[in-house]
Amino acid sequence: MQKDPVCGMQVDPATAAGSSDYNGKTYYFCSASCKQKFDRDPKQFAK
Ligand SMILES: [Zn+2]
Repeated sequence: MQKDPVCGMQVDPATAAGSSDYNGKTYYFCSASCKQKFDRDPKQFAK
């Protein structure tokens, strides 16, 4: 399981609604809207 950096939910990469690569790390999202928020400002969410 991976943590959705936007809302904090645990997300299974196999069923994630989307993913984004940032700074060499892959982030997974529970929904398309979480991915959109992340893509708009990744540095706000990536730790
Ligand atoms: Zn989410």
